[in-house]
Amino acid sequence: MKSLRTGDQNLIKQINKSIVLNVIKNKGPVSRAQISKETGLNKATVSTMVAELINESFVNEIGAGQSSGGRKPVMLYFNNHAGYSIGIDLGVNYILGVLTDLSGNIIRETNIRLNETDLEFVRDKIISIIDNLIQSAPESPYGIVGIGIGVPGHVNLEHQILFAPNLKWRNVYLKQMIEEKFHIPVQIENEANAGAHGEHLYGAGKMTPNLIYVSIGIGIGTGIIINNQLYTGATGIAGEMGHLTIEANGRKCSCGNRGCWEMYASENALLKAARQNLEEDDVCDLDVLESEAKKGNLKVLNLLNHLGEYIGIGLTNVINTFNPQAVIIGNRIARFENWIINPIERILKDRLSCYHKTNTEIRFSALGKHSIALGASSFAISHFFKEKKVKTLVTSQPTGLEE
Ligand SMILES: [Zn+2]
Repeated sequence: MKSLRTGDQNLIKQINKSIVLNVIKNKGPVSRAQISKETGLNKATVSTMVAELINESFVNEIGAGQSSGGRKPVMLYFNNHAGYSIGIDLGVNYILGVLTDLSGNIIRETNIRLNETDLEFVRDKIISIIDNLIQSAPESPYGIVGIGIGVPGHVNLEHQILFAPNLKWRNVYLKQMIEEKFHIPVQIENEANAGAHGEHLYGAGKMTPNLIYVSIGIGIGTGIIINNQLYTGATGIAGEMGHLTIEANGRKCSCGNRGCWEMYASENALLKAARQNLEEDDVCDLDVLESEAKKGNLKVLNLLNHLGEYIGIGLTNVINTFNPQAVIIGNRIARFENWIINPIERILKDRLSCYHKTNTEIRFSALGKHSIALGASSFAISHFFKEKKVKTLVTSQPTGLEE
């Protein structure tokens, strides 16, 4: 039999270590024997990997577990306080920052309104939020392991912001600006990709390998998860489904096209319709619209019904293209779930083929306003583990490789 080269052995070791860590992370507290049974790795390999992980502070040994007789096994826990991560959701009119542990639990959050989109102004606000979150982090072996930022625009595979139309930014190197200031690795991602990742890991998309996250805020963006992996396209900018044409000669969009989905089914579209159809002066605000809807204001209910129909029309295209198990509606429009779910379902029932109808679930974000910030934070955590040569996996069935 051909012997393994050193490179192969290192790779196998990395894979096994990742698998052991993921079993402890997802199924802990577990004993070494249980890990061996779960992964098919022999006990000696498991012990070596566990010893390394304990040495690196990623795993703690605590107490004793149940045993049918004899000595009780020592149980292993993932040390989610080995370090902390920061996630930033840069909206067009707000910034939300969270400090999380390595399992994505929020330790602290900061939220500010943004009334300017000038780059220097926004950069300084982001820096002050990060500064604040760093100050509030508890002592830990690794400190702040990374910073993730979700932005509303095109981001390429090198984390450069190519174009953020609603912020009016082009070719912005935000990653470098923030890294220069804090000397901590920074990941920049499109906000819908960050939201998809967050919901897939911690929210409405858990255990759902194929899903589309539709982020409906000022515009519409989508994050595509295929076989548990985020699909970003050849250069990183896949998922701009807010610019699908849904009206052949419709309203002119800033992207250059006409009749784009986001011209009819976004927060901007809703607020524009509210200004045109309601007499009140202060209706240009989602809080006011929500409270009017709760009071049963028929004009507002009618606007939300139209919004739901347009969301449904766009979703028929999305579902016909991807055949996802679930579509998750997130970002600021998700708060109107009670009023938009019926028109969405009605349009899908009328327009989708029966094969799609029975197989796709419409869900709303479970993480609410935190999905983007949590997704951004978890990108930073994944990057940290990748640098440490251990990968965090989402797959449910781990199988180890013997050297
Ligand atoms: Zn467009």
